[in-house]
Amino acid sequence: MKLIIMGPPGVGKGTQSHGIVQDTGVVHISTGDILRMAIRSGSELGLSIQDVMNAGDLIPDDLMMEVMKERLSHDDVQEGYLLDGFPRTPAQAMSFVKILDEIGQSVDRVLVMRAPADEIVRRLAGRITCRACNEVMNLVGFGRVTPTFCPFCGNDKDEERGKDALYQRADDTEATIRHRLEVFRKKTLPAAWILEERYPLFEIDGLGTTAEVAQRIKSVL
Ligand code: AMP
Repeated sequence: MKLIIMGPPGVGKGTQSHGIVQDTGVVHISTGDILRMAIRSGSELGLSIQDVMNAGDLIPDDLMMEVMKERLSHDDVQEGYLLDGFPRTPAQAMSFVKILDEIGQSVDRVLVMRAPADEIVRRLAGRITCRACNEVMNLVGFGRVTPTFCPFCGNDKDEERGKDALYQRADDTEATIRHRLEVFRKKTLPAAWILEERYPLFEIDGLGTTAEVAQRIKSVL
């Protein structure tokens, strides 16, 4: 099964992706995770994209296509994948459709998650991530105090750098979140409509509990 999940930042793509991966066994490919990993590793790619990413802007399409072509050449994707965060612009969507056409492949479902902007700002302003397992959680669940260890994997420090186990993303400030929402509306939604011309696309209401949203997704998969 080949799936794409799209939606504004903070709508719950990452959380729902974990559930989809568990249910279907496809490989989760998050371009945001790949790029953050590149920044952490201090690689040439990481250094070149750090400022753009922290400002909430998109990295250039040609660079993103190189990253994706490399990732999709690995053996683990042959049985299927869930793309989370790609394609994000009309140019990426068109290039991706072309690549799939050339190798005679298709996408089974495109899921577009939606939620109102104010709800997204509320969610993201409290979002924290584990440096070890990448699990995402919200400070609201911990009385707004950052826990000293990750409740998912038990990690209590960043092994390599001695930093806190959990961190707030540099692009999760209110101004940057609002900018990323604008980028989503202007660039990523038009990319979704390009995909819709070729593949079955479903809009998913992202409001409600994780289980409620997961149920909506299950019903269209
Ligand atoms: P995400 O974790 O999906 O919210 O992505 C975080 C950031 O990574 C975005 O704000 C962009 O700076 C960058 N990024 C992720 N995927 C893409 C993509 N397909 N095209 C361009 N930039 C991307």
